[in-house]
Amino acid sequence: MLTKEQSRAEKIFQRFEARNSNPRSELTSYNNFTFAVAVLLSAQTTDKAVNKVTAELFKIADTPEKMLDLGIDRLKDYIKTLGLFNNKAKSIIAMSRILISEYNSEIPTSRNELEKLPGIGRKSANVITNRLFGKDFIAVDTHVLRLASRLDFSESQNPVDVENDLIKVVPKRFHKNASDWLVLHGRYICKAKNPNCKECFLNDLCRKRQDCIKSILSSNSFEV
Ligand code: SF4
Repeated sequence: MLTKEQSRAEKIFQRFEARNSNPRSELTSYNNFTFAVAVLLSAQTTDKAVNKVTAELFKIADTPEKMLDLGIDRLKDYIKTLGLFNNKAKSIIAMSRILISEYNSEIPTSRNELEKLPGIGRKSANVITNRLFGKDFIAVDTHVLRLASRLDFSESQNPVDVENDLIKVVPKRFHKNASDWLVLHGRYICKAKNPNCKECFLNDLCRKRQDCIKSILSSNSFEV
């Protein structure tokens, strides 16, 4: 038996599913290693900016061995347009060394092992295990944090608490894609500064719709 909140979450995620049954990360990658590197590079940076640098980088460094051959200085040169590029370069080189020495150049499959790699935090570990290994962890980035609040799934601003709140309220069958749906919705519709509530397909279920409340109330009746 679903609670009222779970049932509202179910309706919301059914709509995400109906519009896009197979949401995908917009990061470009060619294998598990390049996906992990792209996720690491995407911290505090847009996917578009990451894809721009990896289009060239991955032509010559798509394995841990090739990344070490490239070396830190040339790697920095490839990624210097991204924020935090010095630290990201150090992490990628250190991660490549560990993958070669401890994991036979493969990306480890468990979240715990991933979180121990340089530059990979919980959010990145969730994204990687979710996408590469089919785990149904919910990664919480800035979009998911904002959406969880606007859709009233969580009152916390702490990513781990928000992740746990989402796990409790979102039906399990949606966990695998939940983060991608929320990220895409946050990127294109429920933007940080100007959420497009008028066009939003969740506006009758959202308690924090920003600019359309009067027009919706005048044309519809709904319960949220
Ligand atoms: S109705 Fe507005 S605030 Fe609510 S999810 Fe849609 S865009 Fe975001």
